[in-house]
This record gives sequence, structure tokens and C-alpha cells, in this order.
Amino acid sequence: MSNFVRVAVNVPGVAELFDYAIPKEWSDRVQPGSLVEAPFGKQTVQGVVMRLLAQPDVPETRELVELLDDQPVLTPSQLRLAEFLSETYFAPVGEYLNAMLPPGLGQRADTLYQLNLPADFDSASMSGLQRHLIDHLRRRGPLRGRQLENAFRHVNWRASIRSLSRAGLVTSRPVLPPPAVGPKYARLASLCIPPQALPQALERAGRTGSAAFGRRQAVLRALADEGQPMDVSWVYAASGANSTDLRYLEKQGLITLRSQQVWRDPLAGKEIPADEIPVLTGGQQQAWDILSARMESAGAFAPILLHGVTGSGKTELYLRLIQSVLDAKKQAIVLVPEISLTPQTIQRFAARFLGQVGVVHSRLSPGERLDTWMRARRADFPIVIGPRSALFTPFPQVGVIILDECHDDAFIQSDIPPFYSAVEAAIAYGRLCGALVLLGSATPGVVLYHRAKQENWPLLELPRRIRAHGKPETGKVADDLPLPDVEVVDMRTELKSGNTSIFSRALRDGLEEILARRQQAILLLNRRGSATYVFCRDCGYSLRCPRCDLPLTLHLRANDLLCHTCGYRRNLPRVCPNCGGTRVKGFGTGTEKVEGELKDVFPSARVLRWDADSTRAKDAQDIILSHFRMHQADFLIGTQMLAKGLDLPLVTLVGVVLADAGLNFPDYSTGERAFQLLTQVAGRAGRSELGGRVLLQTFQPDHYAIRHAARHDFSGFYAQELDYRRQLNYPPFMRMIRFEVRHTDRLQARQKADELHSRLKRLVEASPDRSNILLGPVPPYFSRRAGVYRWQIILKGTRPAELLKKLDWRDVRVEVDPPSLL
Ligand code: ADP
Ligand code: ZN
Repeated sequence: MSNFVRVAVNVPGVAELFDYAIPKEWSDRVQPGSLVEAPFGKQTVQGVVMRLLAQPDVPETRELVELLDDQPVLTPSQLRLAEFLSETYFAPVGEYLNAMLPPGLGQRADTLYQLNLPADFDSASMSGLQRHLIDHLRRRGPLRGRQLENAFRHVNWRASIRSLSRAGLVTSRPVLPPPAVGPKYARLASLCIPPQALPQALERAGRTGSAAFGRRQAVLRALADEGQPMDVSWVYAASGANSTDLRYLEKQGLITLRSQQVWRDPLAGKEIPADEIPVLTGGQQQAWDILSARMESAGAFAPILLHGVTGSGKTELYLRLIQSVLDAKKQAIVLVPEISLTPQTIQRFAARFLGQVGVVHSRLSPGERLDTWMRARRADFPIVIGPRSALFTPFPQVGVIILDECHDDAFIQSDIPPFYSAVEAAIAYGRLCGALVLLGSATPGVVLYHRAKQENWPLLELPRRIRAHGKPETGKVADDLPLPDVEVVDMRTELKSGNTSIFSRALRDGLEEILARRQQAILLLNRRGSATYVFCRDCGYSLRCPRCDLPLTLHLRANDLLCHTCGYRRNLPRVCPNCGGTRVKGFGTGTEKVEGELKDVFPSARVLRWDADSTRAKDAQDIILSHFRMHQADFLIGTQMLAKGLDLPLVTLVGVVLADAGLNFPDYSTGERAFQLLTQVAGRAGRSELGGRVLLQTFQPDHYAIRHAARHDFSGFYAQELDYRRQLNYPPFMRMIRFEVRHTDRLQARQKADELHSRLKRLVEASPDRSNILLGPVPPYFSRRAGVYRWQIILKGTRPAELLKKLDWRDVRVEVDPPSLL
């Protein structure tokens, strides 16, 4: 019997755990994972019970104040996962616990107090406050703690009511608001005039020339284009209009607004076509045999890496795996990069598992989040799909964790603390829950791939594409769809022959052909690194740091080139050190520029642009995509966001406007990212019988990432990348920790960085591990963000984290295994 608990209190910056005594009345109700209130200094704070204790570590313990819910809010596996993350990433365990709970849960939790007075109740022996409390509860009926707090401010009513409840005169029970199971409504707008009447209607949109007039016209056009009712949020995104505009148009009788019931579940209620379960291809069957054998064996745990080219049928394997997990009455977690969380993706799961899929995404309201969390805790739905945070879904018995596109940076939380990699977290969580962890990707990262080999994980390969659109014969499986041809276009030759356009002749011809054949093309621009790296237009040579072999970054004001990893600096050379050419320049181009030139060359083409600017509005991304899918545009221009998981059968040409931008980013993982991006983007073309090709424009046709991507040669790339990493002591051969200091004052930032550096230097020198190297301090590539100056120090070593154990890193951002050093 435990009378004590160890609690992680929810107080920012407090990393230690504290021991408390459990009040007698609820000693049998407190469990690991219970949400409690505990005294902390002079305050009462919330916390989570990490474990039960027979004896506390300290001689004197205070008592818990409140148990906020009868059911634990976190499962034992979640508690252990939070501890794992805290130890791995040097952040307080409480921050991870918080990340696992829906926001505001604590504030919503409360206790309900109810009178339980015997018939012969006599208040004579009561204190004044106790009498007041009883009177109040008599008058008002059962009340929540928060209501009592309002009525009895500044007095210790909790102590009084506790003694009442000890005497059996009051009962208390924790309450969380029940999940809202009711329907939710969406607002739909539709045009209530025939399309022919549109021109006159446009005149009635308000006072000519006013801003509102333009917006309202845009609404009418958008609705006319759509041809069916549109969710108002889409209308806002498409037109820039606001609700006043819509109401105006409604009054004018031009549109109607109505509410339609939708399910909270964003995919239920949609027309989801029945899913027929296909016969597995030979390759899928082989992989499945291994997977299902693993499912059976409850023994040795290891994650499984599924390396399958785009369109090779990985998702079908996920679906089967989920089915067998459901058969075993367990739950499944599917993680995808948020950007891939499209209706298309979700529907593939929903079609197989109607009504059993919950979706988590960043646009859920706090209420919806809480709702989903509560339903998951009861396993009301056994499958969840979502971004990295969906790993924290409180399922009681997780059977499988699937990460699709597991190489994606979206699985790493590095923007806001607490930092973690969802891949690492999933592997740890799988071990804790005894769940299978399946990591799928067309382009697994070299670090993960290397580890899979080192640790003997099962490695499943699906090297062939499935012919899915326009199946040749029903009932027959064809996994012989060729990967698209990738042609590398040397932009140096284009320049030499006098073509200064951003389109090579080959790309221009290709686009013309697309228009003639009424097909579609995607033009991809790698936004990373625009305008800041310097290369020679004649030979393609880019200026690099002699110490880090990373591209140097141009700082125009000083006309200096700087290495953002080690601090190396040099001036901008007038002639190319490689060929003596005189056209050494910075490079930059944006999607808008591409759009402009495209419209000049093909005035009749219908062009859509997808980038951070055009997709800022909620749902704009879905709108752009659905327009494109419905062939309402010929060309789609976009940044790397476009490369992710789209299946567009009419796209037969993908043009990479300039592959180099991605190759010259000052970061050790640049080659890998470029290879992944080019491979993914090539996967967008030729998804059907129509075939497809990729044109890759570059000034560096001999770059290894480009050569291997052009040949769809993962293993060739992998070998070479690994070699490079080995030579330069980068992961997986060395691990890295990045320390970042931030300050609004430039000098203070610098000073703090220097102090930290000396502290680290002492640690490194005192350690017997000679593999540790310290780099910096240096401002990172993005040296100033939102008015804050950043400095970074990088610690490299075989086990650098060992150095940092037991130290307090509260004032510094510590990032373990950073995916990039920007
Ligand atoms: P990936 O997830 O590897 O990109 P998908 O699972 O999307 O590949 O598969 C590509 C296409 O092939 C999809 O349209 C899918 O429905 C189809 N498909 C998958 N497996 C089979 C199969 N065994 N027989 C027929 N079609 C299949
Ligand atoms: Zn350097």
C-alpha cells in the first residue's frame, strides 16, 4: 500500500520531482498518471503522479490537495516515455507531460462537492467556515471547486471541506467535462443566381471601386467557378472577403448561407467510396510475411524500416497491419508529416476503416482537441492519424505505430520546446508499449538507414511501382510501372548559348507539349538558400568553407563570405578560384518570378502558385490542390511542400527550376535533403499510364545528389553520402549537440555564448572521452530572428550527451541530434 507519490509539478522551469503524502480518503484512488493539485511553496499547483512510493525520499512531505480526475490522465507507458524524452533531450519531464495532455485540461478539471448530511445532522461542533460551506451547498446544490473558490475567496475553504468529507458529511469526486459528442456545424455559401447572370450580379456587389466591392466580386467568381456550395472558410481563403461581405451579398439575394451538420471527425460524413482490398503484389507479399510474423512474435523488439519507392504500395501494408492490430483489440497510431495530412491521405484510411479513424491536426480547436483526447482515452476510435504530436494519443493498448515519410523533418520538434524527434520517441514508445514500429519512406535518411543495418532491424524493400490508375485488367496486379525518366539539363550550356531565361529550351518545349496534350506539369523551386550562396555562372563552382566543406554565405553589407558552422570568413572573390571566370554571383529566384516568366512565355496557360504566401489562409492549400486535381490549371508552381505524397495522374512533367539552390545550403545534411527532395518530386510524375518525365535544371550536373537522384539510385547515394559523413565526422559517425544562446542585445548574446563556451570547454577537457570537439561560438545561418540575436556552439563526439548529464541547462537551448544547423 502506497501512502506517498512522486509528482511532476506543472511549474515552468522546475525540473525536479517532488514527493507528497496521499490524504487517507483517496489513497486507493491515486494512481500513476493521476492529475493532482499539490501545495508548492505558497501556491497550489497542478501536477502528474509519476509513481507511487512506499516511502518518500524526504523526511517531511506535504499532502496532496486534490485529485482532479478518477482516471489517470496518462498511461504508464506515457509516463515512461516522458522520462525517456526528458533524459534524452535534457528538458524537464513536466514539459513532455504537458505536451501529452490537451491544452487547458488542468484548468478544465475540477472537483464536485456534494452534501451528504445525516437526518440528525447537528452543526454545533462545526467551525464558522464549515457552517458557511454547508449552508452554501444546501442553497446551491452540488458545486465545483471553482465555484466554491469564487464564493470563498481568501479563506482556506479546502481544508475545511476536507475535514467535512473526512467526517462523511460531504462527498467529493473529480470531474472533467464530458466529451462533446454532439454534432458540429459548418457554414456553406452557395451562389443563388444562374451563371449567365453573373456579369450583372458583379455590378451589385457594392460601391464600385471600393475595397469591399473587389472582395465581394471575388466571392461571386469563386462560387461560380466552384459550381457548388463552398465552405465559408474556403470562400474567405479564395477571395480575401470577410463575414460582413458575405452577409452583404446574402442581403442582396446573390448568395445563400446555411449551416450543415458535419462530424467533429473531419472525415466521417464525407462520401467515402468503399475500398476494395487488393491482392498483394509479390513484393508486398514478401514484406507482409515478415510483418505478420513480427506481429505474432511478442518477443524481441525492433523497429522495422520499410523502404519503398513512391507508389510502391506501402500504404496497403499499413492498412493490413492496422487490421491485424484491430483484430487483436489494440489501437494504431499513424503519423504523417502535417503537410501530407490531406483529405486524400485520410480517406484512404477512412475507406478501409469506416468510422474508426480519429484525426488530429494543428487546426483543431482546444475543445476539439480535448474531445479527441477523451475519446481516445476510452478507445472510442482505435486508429489515429496525425502529425508528430499524435504519438501522444492516450490509447490504452497501442499495437502499432506507423510513421510514413519517416525521413521528414516535420517529425522533429525543434521550433518550440520541448524538443524531440518523433522517430526516436516512437521507437522508445513502441518498446514501452510492446507495439510494432514501422518506419516507411521512399528516401530513408542515412542516419536511420545506417542504424537499421547496425542494429539488425528488419529492412523491407519495395523497389517497384504499382500501376494503379487505369489498371490494365481487373483482378490483375501490375507492379511494373516504370519510374519516370529524369533528364538533367546543364544550365551552364544554356547560358553559353545565350539563353538567360530561367527556363531551358528543353523545359520550355516540354511545357509546350503539356499544353498541347492537355496534361499537367509541376514546376518546383527549392526555396531553401535562395539569394545567399555564391557560385560561378561559368563552371557552377560554389564557394565553400575549407574546414567544414559547407557553402559560405554571402553577407552583402561587408561583402564577406561566412561559414555559419565554424566561423570561417573570407572576402568575395572577383574571379572564380576554379575556372578564372568573372561571373561569380549570388543566386536567388522566387516562385513569383517563375510565375511571371511562365505567363510571359505561355500567356494562355492557367497557372497556380503554391508557396508560403499563397497558402497562408486556412484551407488554401486544399483549395489549390483540388483545383489542380480537377484540371482547372495546367501548371502548378511551388516550393518543396509540393513534393510530398501527391498522387496526380495527369501530371506527366515535373520541372525542377533550379536544383542547385538546395545543394548549396550551409548545412551538413544538404546533399541528403536535395536527394530526398529530387527523388520525392520525381515520384510526382508519371503516376499513370500516361507516363512521365522529370527535367532537372542545374549548374552542377555532376553533383552526387543530382546524379543519384536522376538514376533513382538510393543505394549509390547512400554509399557516397555515408562516405562523406565518415570523412567529415558527421552523423551517424559522430553525434552532435547544438547549444543556442539567444538575447535581444547583440553584445549580451555574444557574451553569454562566450561564457557557455568556456563552461563547455572545461567539460570537454575534463572528460576522458577524447572524441569530443567543440565548434563555435558562431552566429547560425539565421543569425537574427524576430529581433533576437542567436549564437550557437556545436559539440560533436561519439557520445557527447554523456558530458551533459546532471548539469543544469535551463538558460540554454540544447538540441540533441539537430537535423540541421541553420
Ligand atoms: P506508396 O504508399 O508506397 O506511395 P501507395 O500505397 O499509394 O504507394 O500505392 C500506389 C497505388 O497503388 C495506390 O493507388 C494504391 O491503391 C495502389 N495499390 C497498392 N497496392 C496495390 C495492389 N496490391 N494491387 C493494386 N493496386 C494497389
Ligand atoms: Zn566552416
